[in-house]
Amino acid sequence: MKWNEFSEWGRRVADWAQDYHLTVGDRPVRARTRPGEVLNALPQTPPEQGEEMETIFADFESTVLPGITHWQHPRFFAYFNSNAAAPSVLAEFLASAIAPQCMLWQTSPAATEMETRMMDWLRQALDLPQAFQGVIQDSASSATLAAVLTMREKALNWQGNNQGLFGQKQLRIYCSSEVHTSIDRAIWVAGIGQQNLVRVPIKGDWRGMDPAALETAIKQDIAAGHQPAGVILCVGGTGTGATDPVDQLLDVAETYGLYTHVDAAWAGSAMICPEYRHYWPGVERADSIVFNPHKWLGVQFDCSAHFLKNPDDLVQTLAISPEYLKTHGHDGIINYSEWSVPLGRRFRALKIWFLIRTYGLEGLRQRLRNHVNWSSQLHEKLKLEPDFQIVTPPMWSLWTFRYTPDGATDLDALNLRLVNAINDDGRIYLTQTRVDGQLVIRFQAGQFETTEADVMMAFEVITDIARNLA
Ligand SMILES: *Cc1c(COP(=O)(O)O)cnc(C)c1O
Repeated sequence: MKWNEFSEWGRRVADWAQDYHLTVGDRPVRARTRPGEVLNALPQTPPEQGEEMETIFADFESTVLPGITHWQHPRFFAYFNSNAAAPSVLAEFLASAIAPQCMLWQTSPAATEMETRMMDWLRQALDLPQAFQGVIQDSASSATLAAVLTMREKALNWQGNNQGLFGQKQLRIYCSSEVHTSIDRAIWVAGIGQQNLVRVPIKGDWRGMDPAALETAIKQDIAAGHQPAGVILCVGGTGTGATDPVDQLLDVAETYGLYTHVDAAWAGSAMICPEYRHYWPGVERADSIVFNPHKWLGVQFDCSAHFLKNPDDLVQTLAISPEYLKTHGHDGIINYSEWSVPLGRRFRALKIWFLIRTYGLEGLRQRLRNHVNWSSQLHEKLKLEPDFQIVTPPMWSLWTFRYTPDGATDLDALNLRLVNAINDDGRIYLTQTRVDGQLVIRFQAGQFETTEADVMMAFEVITDIARNLA
């Protein structure tokens, strides 16, 4: 293809994308493909001769689309949404056309400086103090890995990268039972070892880490000759929205001089609304905070916002070039590749800029508030149904329930059948989790274009399908 043929196809693709988004609600949310179906539809060997774009595009529609689970469907209530608001898709199109590699300031000053400004807009949107600086990571998993590596290096007096962990005291990192699996992976990759990730018991309705139990665990580890290195806090856990008592845990962490990282990958977006900030009182005392604008806020995937109280700790952990450290930030130049594990970086800030300017913070807040309110209405409605039991209360827009009709025996199996039947039906998409060993069904609302009617339709679908389960 020649570039002078590009605009014609660009228009075709834009028309297709607009139509897709306007009608995606008519499709079944979850793909109905059987394993191997797409693989078998793709030729086993690559073509020797070039093909027409017309043919490729037709195959895209016939082969790929049926195998897509529609994350931009307004009734996608599974997992957490990974949104793609229209202006952020346009920005991503532009970024992909320019295709800069933004590892250093000089490899595209606009990308670096836009990133600095956008991270500061987000900082203000969350009402975090000016002391925080930010970097865009590819995922919350990467931000958490960067934070765990920083914990490790600080605890080893910056010798870990050089000497490795052999012969060191056992480093200990603390979190609750409710954290995301990305925490475990970060611990593995950092060489700290699963057995040194200490699961502190939870308590209360928010299913948060017990501060007294944290302190006991730290004291026991010190007595055993281990070295506490950091605490990972959970604000809005994946299963049920579990949220740690941030201020009380930070008191304990400060007492023992431990580095702290807050994983608010999903719920962080909601903190643009002042009325939800009571969920993380004292967060301004944390060292590191991550949230994913690509989840609830609406930025096209991927885009993870990582805030740091003292970026020098992170840079000292990850920077390759010692020369650069001497001037880090002093000449007004930031090389963000020194703030993250990958060297290469995409131009992600552009889509934050397009999104925030299009809707304004107030437009975004309104969407989030609607999701929380509609989800809460649905929760109230289902609560009145005698055959259903609410298992965990709404945390923002997330809550869990169980179908418990009279006389039912194996409730785990019944609820698994229910969630599978709902997803086969295709009008909505839900996922399950476990709470205290029991299988429960999650509900969360957060798709950018979802409406009150979409959320309320879930009531009809859930209750109808439950009653028709033979
Ligand atoms: C989604 C999520 C993650 C993982 O995010 P990635 O960006 O996919 O790595 C981590 N923690 C929580 C609480 C999440 O909701």
